[in-house]
Amino acid sequence: MDFHLTEEEKMLQAAARDFAKRELEPMASKVDEAEEFAVENFKKMAKLGFTGLAIPPEYGGSGGNVLSLVLVMEEIAKACASTCDILDGQTSLCGRPIFLYGTEEQKRKFLPPLTKGEKIGAFAITEAEAGSDISAIKTTAERDGDSYILNGSKLFITNGPVCDIVIVFANIPALAPRGMTAFIVETNTPGFSRGSQYRKLGMHGATNAELMFNDVRVPASNRLGDEGKGMRICLATLDEGRLGIAAQSVGIAQAALDRAISYSKERKQFGTLISQNQAIQWMLVDMATKVEAARLLTYLAASLFDENMRVSKEAAMAKLYASEACLDIAIKGIQIFGGYGYMMDSPMQRYFRDAKLTQIYEGTSEVQRMVIARALLA
Ligand SMILES: Cc1cc2nc3c(=O)[nH]c(=O)nc-3n(C[C@H](O)[C@H](O)[C@H](O)COP(=O)(O)OP(=O)(O)OC[C@H]3O[C@@H](n4cnc5c(N)ncnc54)[C@H](O)[C@@H]3O)c2cc1C
Repeated sequence: MDFHLTEEEKMLQAAARDFAKRELEPMASKVDEAEEFAVENFKKMAKLGFTGLAIPPEYGGSGGNVLSLVLVMEEIAKACASTCDILDGQTSLCGRPIFLYGTEEQKRKFLPPLTKGEKIGAFAITEAEAGSDISAIKTTAERDGDSYILNGSKLFITNGPVCDIVIVFANIPALAPRGMTAFIVETNTPGFSRGSQYRKLGMHGATNAELMFNDVRVPASNRLGDEGKGMRICLATLDEGRLGIAAQSVGIAQAALDRAISYSKERKQFGTLISQNQAIQWMLVDMATKVEAARLLTYLAASLFDENMRVSKEAAMAKLYASEACLDIAIKGIQIFGGYGYMMDSPMQRYFRDAKLTQIYEGTSEVQRMVIARALLA
């Protein structure tokens, strides 16, 4: 379905599609099995400028709007969702907030290495007692002269085992209960350490770890935004990040649909192709309709974002719908593959495992419903 993309956006989409098909898709099951950060894929994306999307060239970026980033993420997720996850951590969750809320000095210092892929970025809000309720974070940032001293720990952080730069949210105790503040932390700072890499159900090529801060001295010049503005920065970053997760969901769902269509046109039972059964056709129809609806919601929300509109509701709707559709489509895809879909050498099981995460991170489906309900009832 056409969404009135500009010629430039169509060219970028086609380039990302071609790259993902050629370079990422053939490696996707190996990346999944390795359960290691997909460093080669990351380098390839950086070479093409994808790690610099939606950041202007003066900061080393490739320019383009958020819709461009969404288009690229969809294509990458279609081939290898883990690689898209890495890109989301690098761009939507790290480079973009520095670009949007950073000082000129911060942008000049931190963006070029991130946009060029010389450094790996991450975003850290989640803690043991602060998951959906991010206001419950306990990490503290005590002012000490020209620095802040950070103490606490963050869980599940995407790109955590390998990140060089992480945006960390901490409370300034003197400003409680409105002390949440964002900091750009370089992971070579003394007192910073990482837990071991988590083992996960899916998204194996994007790695996660706990990040620990033990008297980490962060220069005041690394504070992102004003003191006490961390909650606003976090929520706005997640609004944008959700567009990326919605795009990721659309990509996985499209991949599952494409494979299911092909398989149904090859597999014969009872002397005929399974695609000749209306039961299979209707599953394919429902899958295709949901993919289109999810894509349109995602592109619409991204376009509104690019028009400088506040899109909390639209981004939450896009992520909610796309992620729920994605898992449903992956499950139907397995059904169409029958027993073969349940085998570990079938790509369908990977789509299913990767799809589940889209309903959990950057706000669970329940949290998206809370955001949408708040907007409806305001
Ligand atoms: C693979 C992975 C990668 C991640 N990457 C990052 C990252 O890079 N950075 C980062 O900061 N965090 C990251 N996270 C954390 C993620 O955002 C949280 O796991 C998520 O927000 C949910 O928090 P929780 O796990 O503590 O669940 P909880 O908040 O404990 O929720 C448990 C259940 O209760 C439901 N629930 C909670 N409150 C309500 C309510 N009021 N009404 C209805 N239902 C409710 C939830 O929807 C969920 O079903 C990642 C998580 C995973 C699994």
